[in-house]
Amino acid sequence: MSLSLDATQLDRYSRHVILDDVGPEGQKRLLDARVLVVGAGGLGAPAIQYLAAAGVGTLGIVDDDVVERSNLQRQVIHGDGDVGRTKVDSAADFVADLNPDVDVERHELRLDASNARELIAAHDVVVDCSDNFATRYVVNDAARIEGVPVSHGAIYKFEGQVTTLSPEGPCYRCLFPEPPEPGTVPDCASTGVLGVLPGTVGCLQATEAVKLLIGAGEPLVGRMLFYDAMDLSFETVPYARNPDCPVCGDDGIDTIDGIDYAAGCQIDAA
Ligand SMILES: [Zn+2]
Repeated sequence: MSLSLDATQLDRYSRHVILDDVGPEGQKRLLDARVLVVGAGGLGAPAIQYLAAAGVGTLGIVDDDVVERSNLQRQVIHGDGDVGRTKVDSAADFVADLNPDVDVERHELRLDASNARELIAAHDVVVDCSDNFATRYVVNDAARIEGVPVSHGAIYKFEGQVTTLSPEGPCYRCLFPEPPEPGTVPDCASTGVLGVLPGTVGCLQATEAVKLLIGAGEPLVGRMLFYDAMDLSFETVPYARNPDCPVCGDDGIDTIDGIDYAAGCQIDAA
């Protein structure tokens, strides 16, 4: 734990420091925090941008992709000169330029059952900015076992959803016990996505992560926020823990060894 904010930090974070619900203590918590951002794409870009600006001291960034020109319509931390570079390198350069207080740990890999638990356990909060069901379910399952909260977001065409999975609250599988069959839900490369949509959703995810870290406000636990960009509407739907949930239910799992996430991550009923 850093002892106190130095003069540069008092200046940089002055609008946080004067807030009652953040203050110097909250800012120090942010500076001492470790957040894992899974995916440095459409959702990850705004999440990384605002978490870095807020002074989250360590950002673990997971991505195994390279920047493509078609990403730039929405993935705002990457620039034209980054096309062809790895997203973790491009993201790390962006963060270094924005805020030297932030250490970026680069994880150029795909999160899967073999590495998820160890990576997640080393962080205080996970921001799930992944774009596929296999990663989303492995994040949920591993974070639940490790007791790490997750700020979840997902987007489709003009719509987004956000929820927060706390170790004490319902998990993603309480809502959606099993993922759809692989290949049945098209990705944004084949359907398209409104470029500003992930900006809104990723910022909401970063908001939840910051709240969790400073311990302020009411997190989006047990509530799914649905956002429709076309009529600019937000709707919040409550959901409860499912005692029959394959992960956090009464007969839930305590390991993800042996679950084939690439094949659809079905968990046999206990
Ligand atoms: Zn559950």
